[in-house]
Amino acid sequence: MFDAIRSYAGIGSRAAGIGAAAALLLCASNAQAQRTELRPGWNLFSVQQDIAVGKQNALQAEKQLPLCNSPKVDAYLTQLGIKLVAHLNTHGATYPWEFHCVNDRAINAFALPGGYVFVNRGAIEAADNEAQLAGVMAHEISHVALRHGTNQASKAQATQGVLGIAGGLLGGGVSGAMLEQLGSFAAGGVLLRYSRNAETQADISGTQVLYDSGYDPRAMAQFFEKLEAETKGKNPPEFFSDHPSPDHRVDRVDQEITKLGGLPTNARKDSPEFEAAKREVMNLPIVKKATPGAAGGGGITKPAPPSSNMSTYQAAGYSLKYPDNWKRYGEQDNLAFAPDGGVGNDSSGHGALAYGISVGTQKVQDANAPDALNAATQQLIDGLKQSNPNMKVVRQAVRVRLNNQPALSTYLTNDSPVGGQETDWIITAVRPEGLVYFVCTAPQAEYSNYDKTFGSILDSVRFK
Ligand SMILES: [Zn+2]
Repeated sequence: MFDAIRSYAGIGSRAAGIGAAAALLLCASNAQAQRTELRPGWNLFSVQQDIAVGKQNALQAEKQLPLCNSPKVDAYLTQLGIKLVAHLNTHGATYPWEFHCVNDRAINAFALPGGYVFVNRGAIEAADNEAQLAGVMAHEISHVALRHGTNQASKAQATQGVLGIAGGLLGGGVSGAMLEQLGSFAAGGVLLRYSRNAETQADISGTQVLYDSGYDPRAMAQFFEKLEAETKGKNPPEFFSDHPSPDHRVDRVDQEITKLGGLPTNARKDSPEFEAAKREVMNLPIVKKATPGAAGGGGITKPAPPSSNMSTYQAAGYSLKYPDNWKRYGEQDNLAFAPDGGVGNDSSGHGALAYGISVGTQKVQDANAPDALNAATQQLIDGLKQSNPNMKVVRQAVRVRLNNQPALSTYLTNDSPVGGQETDWIITAVRPEGLVYFVCTAPQAEYSNYDKTFGSILDSVRFK
C-alpha cells in the first residue's frame, strides 16, 4: 500500500527517523526495584489541540467505520477503559475518554489523540481473557497519555514539512491550517503509525497500568506474542502495521514487571463480563469491508472508465482538470481525485488510493538552490519509501515540463490496495509554495487504461 498517497496526499508519510529527544528515560537498574519513568516527547501541539484533533477524527471515524452498535459491548469497553485510565499517568492532563467497538474482524485497535479509543471486535474475539483485552487497551491509552500521535505529527512537520504548511515551527505552535489537515481522518497515517520506540514506551506504560489495575501484567505481551505466533509472518494482524513490534518486546515487559516488584499474586485474568461481551460480539452480524475498487464493498469491481469530459479544480497555486465522473477528496494541499471505488479506507481509516491522482505540497528548504527540484523530489521519494517498504523506483527521474515549468517525472511500483502491484507516476515541480507533486496511481495490470487520462490531467495544470 502506498501510505503517504493513501492518505490522499502525503501527510501519511512518516518523518525520517530523527534523533529528537527520546522520552524514554530508563532508570539505572539497581537493587531497588523502580518503575521506568516515561514522559511525552517534544510536541508542537497543546493538550487541548490533541483533544480537538482527536475529536474531529473520531467523529469522522464513527461515520466511516462500521460500529458494533451494541450498547452492552460499548458499556463493557467503557467500564474496562475507565478502570484502566484510573491507573494511567496522564502527566497532569485530563482527557475526555471514549471507548467504541468497531464491527471489524481484523485484530486491531487504535486510539486517537485526546483519548478516543476504538477497539475492533476482532481484538475482543482474539483475546483469551479480560487481562489480554485490558493489555491491548492499556497499550492504546498509553499512546494517548504519551501523546505519541501529535509527537509524530510534530516531528513530521519539522523534518519534512509533510503537512505542507510552513510556519508551524516559526510561529512556535500549530497553525490553524495544520490542525485542520490533521483533523481529517485520512491523516491517520501520521497520527496512528507509531515508531518502535513509541511502541516500547506504550508497552512499558501499558504493563504498569495492568499491574496497578490488578491484572496479570504479562497479558499484554502474551497477547501480542500469541498474534505473532498464530500468523507466523504471513498476513500479520493489522495491529502490527500500526504498532510495529519492538525488538525483545517480551523481555522488556518482563524487566518492567521485575522493576515493579515481580508478578503479583492473585493477579486478575478473567471476568464473567468479558466472557459475556465476547459472546455478544461473536453474535454480531459480519460486516464486509469496503474494498477499494469494490462498489458497495462487495466483490472487487473495477471503477468505471474515466470520462473524457473534464471538471475544473482551482487550488490556491494552480488549477487542473479531471474526469467529470471522478470525485475530489480533501482540500487544497491534501487532495485526491479518484473514480468511485478508487479510494477505500482500511479499518484503521487510512485512505487507500488504488486508482486516481493525488496532489500535495511539501516544504522546500531552499527553493532557489540550483538543484532544489532534484533534492526536494529525492526527499519526497525517500519519505514515501520509508512508509512503503515495498516501493521501488523503476524509472529514475527525468526532466520534463509541466505548464512550461521545469519538472521531474519518476515512475515507481508499490503494493496495490487491490492486490498485486501498482504503478505510481510522480511529477514534481518547485513553486513558491513548495514542491508540488502529482502522483498518478493505478494497478499495474490496468495502468495503460489510465495513462492517457493522467496525461490529460497533467497537461491541464496551470500554475498561477
Ligand atoms: Zn502501539
